[in-house]
Amino acid sequence: MQESEHIVDYVFIGLGAANSLIIRQMHAQDMLYNASFVIIDPDEKLLNDKTFCFWAKKKEIEELGIASLINHSWELLGINADAPRAVSPYSYHHISSITLYDELRSILSTCNVQFIRERAETVSNNPANSLLTITTQNHTITTKYVFDSRPPRWNPPQSHQTFLLQSFFGWRITTEEPQFDIETFTMMDFSVDQSNATQFVYVLPFSPTHALIELTRFGSSPIDHTYAQEQLTRYCQQKQLGLYVIEHEEQGIIPMSSCTLQEESISQTFYRTGSGAGKVKPSTGYAFKEMARDAIHIVDSIHSQHFKQRVILRSGKFSFYDRLLLKILESHPHRGKEIFERLFQYVDRKIVLQFLEEKTPFLEDISIFIALPKLLFMKYAVKDIFSGIARHAFGFLPLIVSLFFLLSKQYELEWINWSVLAIGMILIGIPHGAMDHVLSIGERSIQSLALFILGYVAKGMIMLAIWIMSPLIGLIIFLLYSMWHFGQAEYEQENIHNPWLLFLRGFAVLSFILATHIPETNVIINALSIPSIPDTAGFLTSSLLSESSIVLLILTVFIQPRKSTILSTASLLMGIFLPLLQAFGVYFVFHHSFLGWNHLKKGLNKTHLELLELSAPFSLGAFAILSLFFFSGNLAIHEFAPLFFVFLSCLSFPHVLEMHSFYGSIFKRK
Ligand SMILES: Cc1cc2nc3c(=O)[nH]c(=O)nc-3n(C[C@H](O)[C@H](O)[C@H](O)COP(=O)(O)OP(=O)(O)OC[C@H]3O[C@@H](n4cnc5c(N)ncnc54)[C@H](O)[C@@H]3O)c2cc1C
Repeated sequence: MQESEHIVDYVFIGLGAANSLIIRQMHAQDMLYNASFVIIDPDEKLLNDKTFCFWAKKKEIEELGIASLINHSWELLGINADAPRAVSPYSYHHISSITLYDELRSILSTCNVQFIRERAETVSNNPANSLLTITTQNHTITTKYVFDSRPPRWNPPQSHQTFLLQSFFGWRITTEEPQFDIETFTMMDFSVDQSNATQFVYVLPFSPTHALIELTRFGSSPIDHTYAQEQLTRYCQQKQLGLYVIEHEEQGIIPMSSCTLQEESISQTFYRTGSGAGKVKPSTGYAFKEMARDAIHIVDSIHSQHFKQRVILRSGKFSFYDRLLLKILESHPHRGKEIFERLFQYVDRKIVLQFLEEKTPFLEDISIFIALPKLLFMKYAVKDIFSGIARHAFGFLPLIVSLFFLLSKQYELEWINWSVLAIGMILIGIPHGAMDHVLSIGERSIQSLALFILGYVAKGMIMLAIWIMSPLIGLIIFLLYSMWHFGQAEYEQENIHNPWLLFLRGFAVLSFILATHIPETNVIINALSIPSIPDTAGFLTSSLLSESSIVLLILTVFIQPRKSTILSTASLLMGIFLPLLQAFGVYFVFHHSFLGWNHLKKGLNKTHLELLELSAPFSLGAFAILSLFFFSGNLAIHEFAPLFFVFLSCLSFPHVLEMHSFYGSIFKRK
C-alpha cells in the first residue's frame, strides 16, 4: 500500500559514494541544519564494500575537503618490477568506503532524516509546483530536490562504442616477514597470464607486512574467482613473499563503457549523481575525485539557486581517446599489456596521471601517442572518424537538400525539386510509415495481420469521418498528432523523453512551416472549406505569425541545443524561401522520415534491405491509392494538395499511434 508523505527538502536515492559526498558537502555548508530529508537505499552500508583510490595534489585534497577520509597515501608509483618513480606533486590516496559511511552516520545522527530501506522505483516532476515525486514499493515522497545515484542506464552500444568490464579479485594478506615497501604502490604489474584479456596485479602496501594484492582484468567477460586465486598464489610465490595469511577477499566489477548514458532531464532540481551521471572514467574506472568535485558544484548551484544544465554525455578529445583505447582493448586484448607498459616506460609518470585525469594540453597528448603503438592507434582513430562522419551525414542531409532546392529554384529548375521529393517519398517517406505491421508484435500470422489491417484502416476511417464532419476539427487533430510525432522522432534521436519538450519542438516545427507560408497555407485550408488564418503585420515583416513562429523555433534550439536540432532548424529556416510543399517535403522526407527509418532499423535490428522488403506491400498499397487520387481526377497541384493532406492525415493517424508505442517500447528496453 502506498503511503503519502509530507513535502521534504531533499531526497537521496542511494547512499553510496556520490550522495555521501554531497551530504558531507551540504553539512560543511550548514545546509542540513533545519532541512528535512529522506534517504532511500535498501543497503544499510554497514560493510566496507569498496576501497576508493585516486591520485591528487595536496592542494586538491584541501579544496575537495576529503583529507579526513584518507586512510593511507603513497608517494612512489611502481609498474612491473621497474624501479618505482615519484609522481610529485601527486600522491596516491586510499579511502575505505566504511570510513565514508561511518562519517555519514555520525553527520546524519544530528539531522532530521528519514531512512527508507527500499528501492526507489519512479521519479516524476510536477511542472505546476516544481516538486518531484519519488515512489518506492510502500512510499510516495514529494520533495524539492532529488539526488539519484541509481546505477547507470546505458543506451545500446553503436558500432564505434565498446562495453568492457574492469573486474578484479584481491586478497588482503599479512606476511610473516616484512616484504613491502610502504612508500610504493604498484599500479600495474603485468607479470601475470594475459588469458586473452589485459590482466595485471595491483598492490597497495599498508605496512611492511600487510598489503592488498589484486588481480585486475580489462575484458569482455569478468574474471573467474578460482582462476584469480591460482594467479594470485603464483604471483605471491613469484614475488617470494614467504608465508602469508589471507585476511580478507575483495572483488568488484566496474563497467568500462564508451556507450552514451540515457539523458534524464526531469527538472532542474533533479540531479543524477555518481556513476549514473557518467562520473566514472571509461578507460580507467576512477571516479572518486570527480564525484567529490561534482558534489561541490551541485551544492554550490543549490546554494546560489543558479541551476546550470547538467550534461552527462561525454564529449571532446578525452572521450575520443577513451573510445580508441576501449576499442583496441576489445579487438586486440593481448595488446593492452604492451600499450600500458610503453605508456609508463616512455612517458613521465606524472604526465601519464595528468593525462588519465584529462588535464593534458593537446601537444602533450601527441607526445603520449608517439610513445604508443602508432599504427594501431591511427587505424582506430581513422575508423572512429569515418564512423562519426557516416553517423552524422544524414543529419546534414536536409540542409544540403534545402540548399540544392534554393539553387534550383533560383535557376528556375523547380521540376528537379519536385522530382527529388517524389523519389524521396517513394524511397523513404512512404516506406518509413509502412512498417507499422511489424512494430508491436514482430512478424505476424496471416489472421493477426488481417486484424491489424482492419484496425489500421478503421483508425484511418475515423480520421476521414472527422474530416468530413468538421474539416476544422480534422485539421486541428491532424496538426496536434503530427506535432507530437515530429517532436518524438527528433528527440528520440537525442534521447530526450520529456513529453512537454517533445510536443513543444513538434509544435514549433510544424507551426513554423505553416506560418512562414501563410498565403499558401490559407489556399490549402480554404480548399478544405476552412476559413483563412488571420494574420497582421509584424515588427519587421508583413506577418506577425511568421515572425513569432521563427522566434519559437529558435527558442527550442536554445532550450535543447543538440546537433540534430540545430541542423534541422537551419534547414527549416532555408525553407522560408521555398514553396510550402517543398519546405514541408524536405523536412518530412529528408529529416523526419530518415530519423524514423533509422530508429526502426535500430529498434527492429534489421538491415536497410530487410526494412524495404517488410515495408514493400504497404508502400505499394499507399502508392496505389495516391496514384488513384492524382491521375484519376486530373487535378492541378493546388487542387491535389488538400486531398493529399487529408489522405496523409488518415494514413498517418494509425502510424503515429503505432510509432508512439514503438518509441515507448524502445525506451523501456534501454
Ligand atoms: C568495486 C569497486 C571499486 C571501485 N574502486 C574505485 C577506486 O578505487 N577509485 C575510484 O575513483 N573509483 C572506484 N570505483 C568507481 C566509483 O568510484 C564507485 O563505483 C562509486 O561507488 C560510485 O558511486 P555511486 O554513488 O555512483 O554508486 P554506489 O557507491 O554504488 O552507490 C549507489 C547506491 O545506490 C543504491 N541503490 C541502487 N539502486 C537503488 C534504488 N533503485 N533505490 C535506492 N537505492 C539504490 C545502492 O544500494 C548503493 O548504495 C569503484 C567501483 C567499484 C564497483
